[in-house]
Amino acid sequence: MMDVLILGAGLAGLAAARDLAAAGMRVQVLDKARGVAGRAATKRFGPLRLDHGARFFTARQPRTRALVEEGLDAGWLSEWTRQIPSRQAGQISTPEDGHPRYVGRSGMSDIGKALAGELDVQTSTQITRLERNEDGWRLISAGGRVFGGRTLLLNAPAPQLSVLLAGLTNGPDTSMLDAVTLRPCWAVGAALQADVNADWPALNVKDHPALEWIAREHTKRPGPPALMLHARADWSEQHLEDSPEQVQAALIAAAKEIVGDFGVGDSFAHRWRYATPDKRFPEACGWLPELRLGWCGDWCESDGHGPRVEAALLSGWALAQQV
Ligand SMILES: Cc1cc2nc3c(=O)[nH]c(=O)nc-3n(C[C@H](O)[C@H](O)[C@H](O)COP(=O)(O)OP(=O)(O)OC[C@H]3O[C@@H](n4cnc5c(N)ncnc54)[C@H](O)[C@@H]3O)c2cc1C
Repeated sequence: MMDVLILGAGLAGLAAARDLAAAGMRVQVLDKARGVAGRAATKRFGPLRLDHGARFFTARQPRTRALVEEGLDAGWLSEWTRQIPSRQAGQISTPEDGHPRYVGRSGMSDIGKALAGELDVQTSTQITRLERNEDGWRLISAGGRVFGGRTLLLNAPAPQLSVLLAGLTNGPDTSMLDAVTLRPCWAVGAALQADVNADWPALNVKDHPALEWIAREHTKRPGPPALMLHARADWSEQHLEDSPEQVQAALIAAAKEIVGDFGVGDSFAHRWRYATPDKRFPEACGWLPELRLGWCGDWCESDGHGPRVEAALLSGWALAQQV
């Protein structure tokens, strides 16, 4: 039996796992995906590596800055840009904020891989049932594997947790988790026949009904020209059940309205059903000592931080501290 089981190898879960393992606990992390990093994900697409989840990462708190220094020194992180212009009413302007945006050297998932390090992480392991007895927790996977731990930490998006916790006898009150909501995002990656006519690394699009983000991914790391396109949350909600082909056509057409015509080699669409927290849990993490049960993620409010990579890391570290 483990001291701590963590459901979810997102950045929050991995941040908690790393601290607890460093404190000498036996920790095991379980994730349904094939790799670690959750929404800070990178898709291998032919010769390309495209960040179809988190686009970049900023660090404002001392501990996240220390992680950035660690990544820059070790070579798994690099600074991408200090300026991302916005497009409003057809005009492009560049805000003066100038703060550095960091990306994984070979993809945003490098951050998760670095945090996972030597930890015991079981991927391709979807947990479908939770049970509790006097010794602690039992987690049962879709494939019938059973995992045991004295303490259970949950890192999946809250709406997915409520479903798992609802199946427990004498489980916690889940009303706080039920109040958390996340909005979807359709993402489209496109290999280009030639670079688009632009001099920015990425563009925040504020004046299009479908599109909110265009990144020239080859400005993050060397590689053939490629775009990542992210749709607005309300458009993604309206088109949630569209086919990937429909979404690719719509978002590529939207990008052409903005940057002019371009030739696409191949493309893919990815639907994030739970992309961006909207209503969040009001604390940095949740911890119920009597059940030895906790939760963390970017959907927990940490110190006024927006629902982003930094908030996920801070939430994971806060939960490890509680444990
Ligand atoms: C399109 C998009 C763009 C973004 N852009 C940015 C950006 O530019 N900058 C920024 O800072 N942030 C950005 N973000 C947000 C950032 O990706 C997240 O804040 C952060 O990655 C969340 O980490 P997390 O650990 O809270 O959750 P997650 O990454 O969601 O991790 C949860 C993990 O739980 C696993 N899981 C779920 N259910 C189960 C189950 N039943 N069994 C086992 N495992 C399970 C999932 O597979 C996942 O790995 C973006 C997100 C998206 C989707």
